[in-house]
Amino acid sequence: MDTSSCTVQFCRNDLEKSRLQQGKCPVRDCSAPLGKAPFRKSKGQMLKLPFCPEHGLRIHKSGFVYYNGPGGEALITAAKRNLMFHAQYCIDNFVRKSNKAESHRLCYESSEDALTFNVFAELLSTGNELKKLLRRICNGSPTDIPQLYLWGQRVDLDTPVSPYNPLCTARRLLREDRLPYPTEPDIMLVVPNKVLICIEAKFGSKNPIAEERKVPQDQKPKSKTELIDKYCYRNSIIRWNDIFTFDRMPVRFHEQLFRNIVFAASIAEVAGIEKWYVVNLRSQHVMNLKKGRAESMPVVRNVRSVLTHAYKNRFVHLTWEELYDICVRDNPHLHNLAWYMKNKTLNCQRAFNIF
Ligand SMILES: [Zn+2]
Repeated sequence: MDTSSCTVQFCRNDLEKSRLQQGKCPVRDCSAPLGKAPFRKSKGQMLKLPFCPEHGLRIHKSGFVYYNGPGGEALITAAKRNLMFHAQYCIDNFVRKSNKAESHRLCYESSEDALTFNVFAELLSTGNELKKLLRRICNGSPTDIPQLYLWGQRVDLDTPVSPYNPLCTARRLLREDRLPYPTEPDIMLVVPNKVLICIEAKFGSKNPIAEERKVPQDQKPKSKTELIDKYCYRNSIIRWNDIFTFDRMPVRFHEQLFRNIVFAASIAEVAGIEKWYVVNLRSQHVMNLKKGRAESMPVVRNVRSVLTHAYKNRFVHLTWEELYDICVRDNPHLHNLAWYMKNKTLNCQRAFNIF
């Protein structure tokens, strides 16, 4: 039996990490006999993993996935359990749509996308808080409420999502429009004509580093030289040498953040937007836990080392905890979001340093 009728979300106080290590369902005191549920690995290989039918969880080595059974409807039920805010809007607009890669991962406890949607869609519902975030990133001005885009789509909770055309244009001009996975800023905040902010959100995963290897034709390049060639030398939108300097290349070249910077600058140029910023959003708590590992490596010096003096401050590091302080903590309308951020787990443990 690999189906479950459970519709509950599990948070910090419901879970016990040590149970996971013993191969048990991570829900405290659960004694339900475990079954097996299918799990497709990235290379298409099918595995069977332990499954708790009572709690509807597929049990992985270091965390869990909400799982209600095979098939599309069960996947939606499972994803909704991980979407605490505006779940139906997310399902209607992003699940099994071509506009969102990997929407099936929305049911993972470790899903960056579920976390991103929960936090930003709920921030949007109260209006002003995104403006505070914007001002923090831009060091003061401007004072407009920004538009929110998630995975390249305008999100406003009242109307269906629609694509951001300047991003589509930039992809086409940078020859990414035929790739199965084009560059996709997780979050964009846009004040037309004034500011564009592209946010690369991380939860448990690390910022990818350039590697000296060849990739298939339909993938984005991975090596430093090919990245710089494709996104700078052959970039017809921006004057790359105003922004970048490659005289002293860092050993660790953050390829995804680099592409985000190229895209932010290129989109701003296409859309006639005055200023752009790129933000790397990470969990301080995860960085503390993973000290010494790739997930916790400082990025600011490395990334800024390839930016010219005038552009160094266009790359900003921010933590989910800082975002909580700026936007959530003091707003009584966001107490559900505050609760979520305090109780959200990663690998069955606290996800953020928020108390
Ligand atoms: Zn259980």
